[in-house]
Amino acid sequence: MRPEALNPLFVEADALDGVGPKLRRPLEKLGLTRVKDIAYHLPERFVSRCAVETLDDAVEGEQIIIALTPTEHRASRSNRGPYRVFAQDRIGNVCALTFFGRASFTAKKQLPVGEKRWVAGKLERYGDMLQIVHPDHIAQDSGASLAQLNEPVYALSEGLTQPRVSALIEQALARLPELPEWIEPGLLAREGWPAWRDALHLTHKSQHPPARDRLAYDELLANSLALMLVRADNRRRIGQRLKGDGSLRARLSLPFPLTAAQRRSIGEIEGDLAQQSPMLRLLQGDVGSGKTVVALEAMLIANEAGKQAAMLAPTEILARQHYETLRGLAAPTGVEVALLTGRDKGRARESILMGLMDGSIQIVVGTHALFQDTVGYKDLALVVIDEQHRFGVEQRLRLAAKGRRAPHTLAMTATPIPRTLTLAQYGEMDVSRLDEMPPGRQPIDTRVVALDRIEDVVAAVGRHMAAGQQAYWVCPMVRESEMDDIAAAEARYAALKERFGADVVLVHGQLRPEVKDAAMERFASGAAKLLVATTVIEVGVDVPAATLMVIEQAERFGLAQLHQLRGRVGRGSEKSVCLLLRGAPLSETGRKRLALMRETQDGFRIAEEDLELRGGGELLGTRQSGETAFRIATLEQIQRLLSVAHSDARLLMERDAKEGGGLASPRGAAARLLLYLFERDWGVQLLRGG
Ligand code: ADP
Ligand code: MG
Repeated sequence: MRPEALNPLFVEADALDGVGPKLRRPLEKLGLTRVKDIAYHLPERFVSRCAVETLDDAVEGEQIIIALTPTEHRASRSNRGPYRVFAQDRIGNVCALTFFGRASFTAKKQLPVGEKRWVAGKLERYGDMLQIVHPDHIAQDSGASLAQLNEPVYALSEGLTQPRVSALIEQALARLPELPEWIEPGLLAREGWPAWRDALHLTHKSQHPPARDRLAYDELLANSLALMLVRADNRRRIGQRLKGDGSLRARLSLPFPLTAAQRRSIGEIEGDLAQQSPMLRLLQGDVGSGKTVVALEAMLIANEAGKQAAMLAPTEILARQHYETLRGLAAPTGVEVALLTGRDKGRARESILMGLMDGSIQIVVGTHALFQDTVGYKDLALVVIDEQHRFGVEQRLRLAAKGRRAPHTLAMTATPIPRTLTLAQYGEMDVSRLDEMPPGRQPIDTRVVALDRIEDVVAAVGRHMAAGQQAYWVCPMVRESEMDDIAAAEARYAALKERFGADVVLVHGQLRPEVKDAAMERFASGAAKLLVATTVIEVGVDVPAATLMVIEQAERFGLAQLHQLRGRVGRGSEKSVCLLLRGAPLSETGRKRLALMRETQDGFRIAEEDLELRGGGELLGTRQSGETAFRIATLEQIQRLLSVAHSDARLLMERDAKEGGGLASPRGAAARLLLYLFERDWGVQLLRGG
């Protein structure tokens, strides 16, 4: 149960004035469903505007405020074209106010011909014409909000405008309750951080680094504390000691010797499994570093001890692939391996469920379907989670509730994240690193190509296919809208298909699983030569015969993501090529980042240097979505503040250390509020359970 003090923050956004059914969706798109989400929708940046009398006084490229009188509305002939309103300044200079899509409705209403309006926006040149595209503000008088010289700019979604968002934020801020302080007073004073509520007010008003830091720190503290609670809770839980006798592992006949890193990781896992408290271990290893056999050895230890093991994959495709691989490798051991996905129905499903209940199935691979209420196990002792970053801690906890006693957990990830972020994201786990690749890998020839040479690239793909080889073509996921991205992928697919015919297949996240799998299978079997995809192919997919990868607008991807994508090629004995198509002229950092991709294939090095490159100069709002578990804290803030938050959290955890200290203290009680605020409330649940 959430503490009452927080209720005003969890009120649905609809409760705010002016939020009707129409605004609901655009707000949801930004993840703004409750009052607190809106209050925490921090400005991406601030603009300072220059108020000008006439267009002659304005500088192109600057943010201006000016009084203009509309003279003419002109819709474009095509539906998709712009809607333009021509308007004059005081002395008759003309400027076009340009709108796309649904914004033209606003223009019609707000810019009546012949009536003076105050307009704020960025002045640009379009041909021989001055224009302002989608003005930020249109008002009848030069009211206070318009005249604000330092104005916040918020991320928007279609259907929202800056003034709309500002108005909502103002309401949300007015509803903020006063909360007790959870930050250690000495730290607060030393850093000069404002109180929580003040900090939120301040960050919306101006670029205020201490306020921003405080809010980021709050998030980091909540996270560290929650992870520590998981760890503490785990130590108290009773698991089962798993001691294998080696009988099953001895029957494996792997076609290669294990690398030293694999042997070391298996040893660490074996040590954990032999303990009473459940294992919580992360296996971190680059794409192709050989995590699957490590997982298999771990699962066989469970089997040797007479128990079951489950492997959870994020997608159907991956589950299927793991199943095939594991079944093949495990064949000589006689262990029964099964596959369970959401698509299994009727008889087949029943028989798998029976097998899990009676223990005749020893290893099961699957998607989320593995952990539905209807699925019961005889004695599940080990859960392996592939591509850990797709699952949150919360899901992991829910799933750990499946075993008769707390099962051991081995999480695996190929996302090469830097050490600081590993701590932030997986702080509750022990880490094994596969920092060595199996021998004999061919380096991937990586090149950066400008998008305007796309015809050459298409021709190269054609030659590649004509030579009987396979290729990937990856279209970017841009953050505005998944549907737009899919539209772009579909358009690219259509063009490539027209050129190359039936050899081309398309995969993206909105396809029905059957359709997607059918396409993947055509590609994996070699029937299709070119796979056009959004980033859904990012993880796992293994087609050794694919030796060329094209990544469109590579500069938009995180390096970790590029690295993972690139890891799809270079898996066979043939030499592989990766072409990074850059869509825009690159910034200095952008250039260095892509150069780094050319230079190395070491995922850990890429992760560290990428962090370094962006760390200091990271702009607000340029964060790669989903890269960290944080909404507020930037990479730079994580690096700077995480270890402080960590030790502060540890202080709070030491409940027995001192009279009046720890989580039982007033500050500890405040910190619990913080856990709810950042929806790490599973931490509090654990607290209660213990
Ligand atoms: P990951 O899941 O870490 O990306 P995989 O487990 O899929 O990597 O392994 C990638 C490939 O390397 C597989 O074809 C696997 O059989 C092979 N492999 C794994 N370990 C070794 C090893 N020690 N020596 C040679 N090849 C290996
Ligand atoms: Mg894998």
